[in-house]
Amino acid sequence: MTTPRVHAPARTAPAVPPYRLVLVGGGPRATYLLERLSATVDRLGEGRRLQVRVFERTGEFGAGQAHSPTQSRTSYLNRIGCQVSFAADDTVTGAGPLRPEAQRPTLHEWCRRRFEETGEADFDLAPEDWPKRYVHGLALRDMFDTFAADLTRHPGVELHLHRAEVVDVEPHEDGLCVVTGDGERHPADEVVLLTGHSYHDPRRAPAGRRLAGLADRGGARYVPHPYPMDVELGPDRTGPGTVAGCAGTGLTAIDAVLHLTEGRGGTFHDAPGHGLVYRPSGDEPAGIVAFSGSGLFTFARPDNHKPSSSAGDHPGTFLTDEAIRRLRAHAGRPNPGGADRLWRNESSGGAAFEPGGLDLTADFHPIRSDGGIDRRVTVLGVPSEGARSFLLSALRPNANHYVMRDTLIWLDRFWHTMDRADRGRRPRQGQRTTWPA
Ligand SMILES: Cc1cc2nc3c(=O)[nH]c(=O)nc-3n(C[C@H](O)[C@H](O)[C@H](O)COP(=O)(O)OP(=O)(O)OC[C@H]3O[C@@H](n4cnc5c(N)ncnc54)[C@H](O)[C@@H]3O)c2cc1C
Repeated sequence: MTTPRVHAPARTAPAVPPYRLVLVGGGPRATYLLERLSATVDRLGEGRRLQVRVFERTGEFGAGQAHSPTQSRTSYLNRIGCQVSFAADDTVTGAGPLRPEAQRPTLHEWCRRRFEETGEADFDLAPEDWPKRYVHGLALRDMFDTFAADLTRHPGVELHLHRAEVVDVEPHEDGLCVVTGDGERHPADEVVLLTGHSYHDPRRAPAGRRLAGLADRGGARYVPHPYPMDVELGPDRTGPGTVAGCAGTGLTAIDAVLHLTEGRGGTFHDAPGHGLVYRPSGDEPAGIVAFSGSGLFTFARPDNHKPSSSAGDHPGTFLTDEAIRRLRAHAGRPNPGGADRLWRNESSGGAAFEPGGLDLTADFHPIRSDGGIDRRVTVLGVPSEGARSFLLSALRPNANHYVMRDTLIWLDRFWHTMDRADRGRRPRQGQRTTWPA
C-alpha cells in the first residue's frame, strides 16, 4: 500500500489538469523544500493546480532514515540545538516570504516547547546541548506535517505521501513516469531527487569486497550499513561473547559504540582523576575493536564560530576557490556538457563506470554522458557529489545556509516553469532520459 496519507484541500479545486511534481525521498531536504514551497504557494494563483507526491521508502516523512524517531536512543546529533533550524530566515538571500518568527523555531526552541508540554528529560536542553538524533527526527516530523498542512491550504494543491521506494524514472508520453518497487507507476511533469545518503552492495567495489571476503573466510558477519542499529547490531549478532569490529572511527562508529555499551544498559561514571569509567551491564559484546586509516576519532564540533556573513560558509585557508580551479584544470576531466566530472563510481571490475556518478549543472540537473540535460529532474543532496562534495547537513539558522540556498535555486526555476507552462508554452526540456533512481 503506497498511499497512506493524502492531504487534499477542503474546497473544491478547479478542473484543470494539475502540474505533477514528485519528490523522491521524504527526509530533511524534503522538509526544507516543503517549507519554501508552502511559503510561496500563493504564486500558484487561482485556477491552477499542483499535485505533489512524496515517496519515502521508510515511511518516516520529515525525519527520513538518518534522523528517524524510532532509532537508537543513544545516537546524538553532531550539532547543538540552537544551530539547527527548519525554515528560511532573514539571512537567506532571496528567500521570499518568511514565516513569523514563532513559526520557525530552532531545534532548541522546539525542544523547550515540547518539554513544557511533556516534561520529558530528552527535551530539557540548553541552547548548547546536543540533542539526541531521534529528537531531531520528532521535530522534523512535526515541521513536515506543519508545512504539508500549510501547502494544502491552497485550494489548487493536493499532496500525496507514499511509503514506497522509487526504483526508476522513465520517459512517459510528454513527461516522466516514476516507478516504485511495488510496481506502481505515477506520471510526473517534474521530479526532484532528495535521496540523501544511500548505501550499496559493498561487494561491487574492491575495498568492500576485501572486507566482505575477509569476514566470510573468518566466519564473521559483515555489516556494511549499521542502521537501523537495533536490527543490524542486535544482540543476536553482537551479543555477549562476540567481538565487534568497527571499520572507521567517525560519527557512525560513535553511534555504534554507544549503542553497544549504553544501549545495552552499561553506564559511564565520573571517576575523579580517571575521567569517565564504564560500568558494564553484562549484555555488551566482549570487545569492540575500532580501526581506521588515521586511528583517530572524529573531532567534536561543540560550538561553531564560522562567520555568518552573507557567504555563509567558512572561507578555506588552503582549499580556496583558486586552489579548486587549479585542481580542476589539472585533474578534472572536461565534460561535453560543460560541467567538470569530479566523481566516479568504480565498477565491480575496478574500472570507472560510464557515465560515473551524477554530474550536475550548477542548478542541479543531471548531465548525461552525451552532454544532454533534462531540466525536469533536479538532484538536491548527496548524488550531487559531481558538483559539490559531501555537502550534507541539517539546516543551520542565521547563516544564509547552503541547504536553503540550494532549495531556492530549484524553487525559483520551479515557479518560472509553472508560469511558462501557464502561458501555454511547454517547459524547456532536454533529451529524454532513463536512469535508475
Ligand atoms: C547516520 C547519519 C547521521 C547523521 N548525523 C548528522 C548530524 O548529526 N548532523 C547533521 O547536520 N547531519 C547529519 N547527517 C547528515 C545528513 O545527511 C543530513 O543531516 C540530512 O539527513 C540530509 O537530509 P536529506 O533529506 O538530504 O537526506 P536523508 O536524511 O538521507 O533522507 C533521504 C531519504 O530518502 C529516502 N530515499 C532514498 N532513496 C529513495 C528511493 N529511491 N525511494 C524512496 N525513498 C528514498 C531515504 O529513505 C531517506 O529517508 C547524518 C547522516 C547520517 C547517514
